[in-house]
Amino acid sequence: MTQPWEGAGFATRAIHVGQEPDPQTGAVIVPVYQTSTFAQSAVGEHRGWDYARSGNPTRDALEAALASLEGAAHGFAFASGLAGCDAVLRTLSPGDHVVLANDVYGGTYRQFARVHQPWGLQFTPVDLTDLDAVAAAWTPATRMLWVETPTNPLLTVLDIAALAGFAAERGARTVVDNTFATPYLQQPLALGADVVVHSTTKYLGGHSDVVGGAVITNDDALAERIAFLRNAIGGVPGPWDVWLTLRGVKTLAIRMRAHCDNARAVVAALQDCPTVREILYPGLASHPGADAATRQMRDFGGMVSFRMADEDAALKACARFRVFTLAESLGGVESLVEHPGRMTHLSVAGSPLEVPGDLVRLSVGIEDVDDLVADVRQAVS
Ligand SMILES: *Cc1c(COP(=O)(O)O)cnc(C)c1O
Repeated sequence: MTQPWEGAGFATRAIHVGQEPDPQTGAVIVPVYQTSTFAQSAVGEHRGWDYARSGNPTRDALEAALASLEGAAHGFAFASGLAGCDAVLRTLSPGDHVVLANDVYGGTYRQFARVHQPWGLQFTPVDLTDLDAVAAAWTPATRMLWVETPTNPLLTVLDIAALAGFAAERGARTVVDNTFATPYLQQPLALGADVVVHSTTKYLGGHSDVVGGAVITNDDALAERIAFLRNAIGGVPGPWDVWLTLRGVKTLAIRMRAHCDNARAVVAALQDCPTVREILYPGLASHPGADAATRQMRDFGGMVSFRMADEDAALKACARFRVFTLAESLGGVESLVEHPGRMTHLSVAGSPLEVPGDLVRLSVGIEDVDDLVADVRQAVS
């Protein structure tokens, strides 16, 4: 897309790809093109933009940056992460079958179970750490393997290269929800995946001030279909939202380094607390996905989940945090704590994806690490 930045490093591309100074005014920052339509010089003659559902220059800038960071040819911004998932699933047809991770984000599961299944899509949630289980769930109608790694909220790590290879041999596409890792830590397309989806609401936006999503791919035919579907269905983000997201993306590399370092320190503090029964964090040698995480991730991310003695202890710990804010969502500069069973994952209660009640999830922010560690110690003690 923007040739001069090919071969440049990750942080450089995050700040520059798609973000050349405005040729007309010299503005260093891509303007917010707050317009619904674009003047045409003659009937059907325009400069590449005719109507803002179909295209907007601010949105184009974000898409170019995201595509570059994932090492892809095509990026599409959506109004939310779930709008992006919806577009990907609508490339399938009634009767098609999807194998998906059995602890995907609750909203993703709800969309499969209560939106797409009633329209004729079949799906099977499977433990994707077990290739025999994947093979057993596979049917002649399986067209897609839906991977999320690390998963929300159990931080299961799935081997992207092994899963994508398995699906490719059987003529199916692999989709990876890369929301938790971000392209700074993990680039699924380079590992053989066909499509990456993001909730840009989380680390890519990074400041808890905007909801958005993205779909990224190197597959030209699929990209054409996604572009068609987005325009035909209309789940597009507005220009302010994409501008805020792009502003967040510029600092992704430096933020992710801080998130990872702080999470490591929080995990070390949790390891000292006898009230904490189990820590779910892919950077621990005892984590079942530690090898895969070390192979496919640059570092282990800013998300940490842990289990207390029981649900009551988990709820009490959630209530005691002071620096961490009790709230849903994740990936912002501020630290958040939540109880997945009663908050983000309430929609999967009673389903095969129900999460344990003793679980607490932390999104470790980039405040001073000593303040975070002290807060965690007092909350769980
Ligand atoms: C939040 C989230 C989503 C959904 O994204 P929205 O922007 O809330 O629609 C999808 N996948 C994962 C892993 C998430 O954390």
